[in-house]
Amino acid sequence: MHGPDSSLAAEFLASPNFGERRGAPNALVLHYTGMPTAEGALATLLDPASEVSAHYFVFEDGRIVQLVAERDRAWHAGKGFWKGESDLNSASIGIEIVNPGHDGGAPPYPDRQIAATIALARDILSRRKIPPERVLAHSDVAPLRKRDPGEAFPWRRLFEDGVGHWVEPAPISGGALFRHEEEGPPVRALQAMLALYGYGVEITGVYDRHTRAVVAAFQRHFRPARVDGEADASTVATLKALIEACRR
Ligand SMILES: [Zn+2]
Repeated sequence: MHGPDSSLAAEFLASPNFGERRGAPNALVLHYTGMPTAEGALATLLDPASEVSAHYFVFEDGRIVQLVAERDRAWHAGKGFWKGESDLNSASIGIEIVNPGHDGGAPPYPDRQIAATIALARDILSRRKIPPERVLAHSDVAPLRKRDPGEAFPWRRLFEDGVGHWVEPAPISGGALFRHEEEGPPVRALQAMLALYGYGVEITGVYDRHTRAVVAAFQRHFRPARVDGEADASTVATLKALIEACRR
C-alpha cells in the first residue's frame, strides 16, 4: 500500500487507472472535474471502466486525496501537446479540482479549495523542480478538446502565491485583428509566438479553426476577461509580455 507523496494529502485512495511513466514529470496540469458532484467525479476516477485518473483530487472544502502515486503515469491529460511533448501523461502530474465547470454554470472556486490547491502545487513544484511556466491548464495542452479548469480559475492568485507564470493582461481595446481564414505574415507571426510559448499550433499563416482554439486557450489562462478566440491587440501584447518574462 502506497502512502501519499505529499504530506498535504489526507489519504491515498488507489485508482487502478495508471501505467508506467517514460521519464520524470516536468509539468503540472490542472483540471476541473466538470461533473455535478464531487462524489460522482471521484467514483469515475476510481472506476477501472472509466480509464481516467489523476494524481490528486481537491475537494471544494480544501480536502486533498491522492489517487495515483507520482512515480506512476496517471491518465488525466489524454491526447495533447506542449513544447515538443505529446505524451503529457508521462511528462506531468495531474490535479483534478472539484468544480462543475462550464456545463455546470462555471461557479467560482471557493477560497479554501484554491488555498489547498496552491499549497499542494507549491509542494509538488518544489519537490519536483518544475519551473513556473510549466504549470498548465488542461486547455493549454488540448485546446481543441478541453476548456478546463476554465477562465473562472484564479491563475493570477496562484501566481501571486508563487505558482505558475503570469503577467498582468494588457487592457482590452479594439476588436479582432484577423478575419476567419485570413492569411498572411502577421498570422504567421502570431502562430510562431504561440508555438514558442509552448502551444501546439501549426505555423500555416492562416487564421483557421485550430489557431482560433489555441488563442481561446491562451485567453482562458492569461487574458480571462474575454475568451472569444479572436486575436485582438490585448491578446497579442499579453502573449509578447509573457514570452519576454520567460527570457528574463
Ligand atoms: Zn481536464
